[in-house]
Amino acid sequence: MRLTTIGTGTSSPHPSRVASSLLVEAGEVRLLIDCGSGAMHRMATIGLHWQDITHVALTHFHADHIADLVMLMMAWRWGQLPPRDQPVTLYGPIGTGALLERLAAVYGPWMLAPDFPFTVRDLKPDEIVSLPSGLTLSPHPVPHTPESVAYSIEHEGRRLVYTGDTGFDEAVGAWAAGCHLLLAECSLPDSLAVREHLTPRRAGALAAVAGARRLVLTHFYAPVESVDIAAEVAEHYAGPLVLATDGWSTEV
Ligand SMILES: [Zn+2]
Ligand SMILES: [Zn+2]
Repeated sequence: MRLTTIGTGTSSPHPSRVASSLLVEAGEVRLLIDCGSGAMHRMATIGLHWQDITHVALTHFHADHIADLVMLMMAWRWGQLPPRDQPVTLYGPIGTGALLERLAAVYGPWMLAPDFPFTVRDLKPDEIVSLPSGLTLSPHPVPHTPESVAYSIEHEGRRLVYTGDTGFDEAVGAWAAGCHLLLAECSLPDSLAVREHLTPRRAGALAAVAGARRLVLTHFYAPVESVDIAAEVAEHYAGPLVLATDGWSTEV
């Protein structure tokens, strides 16, 4: 499967990083995970064909992960000719259906009933969803907000884990054990550390607990970019490390 990091930034405006979003492609599935502010326009600048997205999954409801969901729905409905007719399924943690109802109350009933088949599904923790082409998607609770989840995506024996936003939690590392690629948030330097986010050292520690074959970091607030992220990660994790940028892509 192929991973593309669309947005590697946060809620803080950044000259080269829009807010969180990534695409996982395998077989006929084009799975968009999170759709933060700026993600739609970044898809255009990196040449990503947003019209072909088949599934969407949300990790949590902070605006830097969902703000462009309305824009995506609007683009499918009115931003392409002819309008979309292919189905879309939207997954998220418990509360996703209620979120869409609130968005529909603000923006209009088309948010829930666009002119293409649209399904919204709340996922239970650790539920395993089977997508086409043998892809599976499974959420796991993480310490960030009450609804927040990480996702495990598996295809043909390969496993990708995306933490979403999370604090450090050994149990999350154990759940991610053996993943081929761990895509982890890396919000803040130690000097600004909070319980709800990772620092480079904590991301390294999480990757070490997981025994991840490769670690890719994303979700950088500006202050963390002025520390030596690779050196701090290396205090805990010796495997290959990538600091993702918008439009970066790899086979998993
Ligand atoms: Zn975030
Ligand atoms: Zn968040």
